[in-house]
Amino acid sequence: MTDPLTPPRLRDDCFAMPQGVAWVPVDDALARLRAALLPIAGTERLAGRDALGRILAADAVARRSNPPRANSAVDGYGFAHAATGTGVQRLPLVSGRAAAGQPFSGAVPRGQAIRILTGAILPEGVDTVVLEEDCATDGATVAFDGPVKPRANTRRAGEDVAEGAVALTAGQRLRPPDLALLAALGIAGVEVHRPLRVGVLSTGDEIVDDPGAAAAPHQIFDANRPMLLSLAERWGCLPVDLGHVRDDPAAIAATLDRGAAAADVILTSGGASAGDEDHVSALLRARGTLSSWRIAMKPGRPLALALWRGVPVFGLPGNPVAALVCALVFARPALSLMAGSGWTEPEGFSVPAAFAKRKKAGRREYLRARLDSEGRAEVFASEGSGRISGLSWATGLVELPDAAAGITPGTPVRYLPFASFGF
Ligand code: AMP
Ligand code: MG
Repeated sequence: MTDPLTPPRLRDDCFAMPQGVAWVPVDDALARLRAALLPIAGTERLAGRDALGRILAADAVARRSNPPRANSAVDGYGFAHAATGTGVQRLPLVSGRAAAGQPFSGAVPRGQAIRILTGAILPEGVDTVVLEEDCATDGATVAFDGPVKPRANTRRAGEDVAEGAVALTAGQRLRPPDLALLAALGIAGVEVHRPLRVGVLSTGDEIVDDPGAAAAPHQIFDANRPMLLSLAERWGCLPVDLGHVRDDPAAIAATLDRGAAAADVILTSGGASAGDEDHVSALLRARGTLSSWRIAMKPGRPLALALWRGVPVFGLPGNPVAALVCALVFARPALSLMAGSGWTEPEGFSVPAAFAKRKKAGRREYLRARLDSEGRAEVFASEGSGRISGLSWATGLVELPDAAAGITPGTPVRYLPFASFGF
């Protein structure tokens, strides 16, 4: 278990690429990121019902079998199979019945039957149940056609999960069905990771925080911060709004200091390239631990990775389309690993293209996409990465491989629904 008081330390050069690497393929960048990071979130104990969306820090072990005892799967009549045969069976009924929550206390003599309801524990002497709809009865005797399969319509004790078995493994993020399983197995409390605190910061002299404010023509509203904060929230993290800072190294440094104290990881957007106005990367470089990865992908440009006071900083592009794609491709698996649920890979599937495109070799491309009524992937009309409306239009991404590709309608392409990125 992680000691909450001793954060593991990442090495200053953990994000460094080997000398001479120019454009890094996406898969190499992902492999490096995966190798560089550690789970860092401490743990706490919660009641199962309060643990939705949290990540198990220890295996959840069944305190009780499900079902705890052998019981009936249907409403019908129960008896010992050994006393039945082929042809019409007529068994006298014992008085009383067995129901869920109202067990029958006596034993059913061999050759007799008992009225039994779904979920009732099988009384002593009963191992088989015949469905009510397959029976005739006058209240004193029950008649049905044999042969009946031994143990028909019954559930074995522990057939689902046996007491002492691992029901859910550490790293699992708890979803509504998992809460059902925990409760069924008598697991009241679970050890979970504390939510990863994700600081989000926007940079740029042109950025205006409040979309309700009056904005001058040279100003634009901050689209990335609500997107990245809500993504962090959807990923089960604790979003920490670090606000917006102007392109001023001192102000960015002060905000990163604040972020490093309040968050486990920081996502910045804007200023991450190598240009004159790219103050985030300039600052991170000046303070020594920047690794600027030129990733062979579109949209993307460089992804700036750095440690600021030991806290990983993901310098995402300012462009909202590129910021989202980089966040989904790089930040999501990284945050998942740091949060304790391991590295994640989006589940994609192959669908026919509804579009045509030629792409060059040497970089991976992500297109805003959605499925049409025939299950084919259509892509947003413009690849312009300033087209934020395309992000809302899309229900996922089409991922085109690093190699050259000539796509015509009907060509299989890999579609990654946004749901597979956790939102
Ligand atoms: P940069 O990465 O800072 O060079 O920014 C690239 C483009 O993204 C520029 O057109 C910026 O105005 C725009 N941009 C940067 N940050 C944001 C933001 N938070 N919301 C919307 N657009 C942004
Ligand atoms: Mg900028």
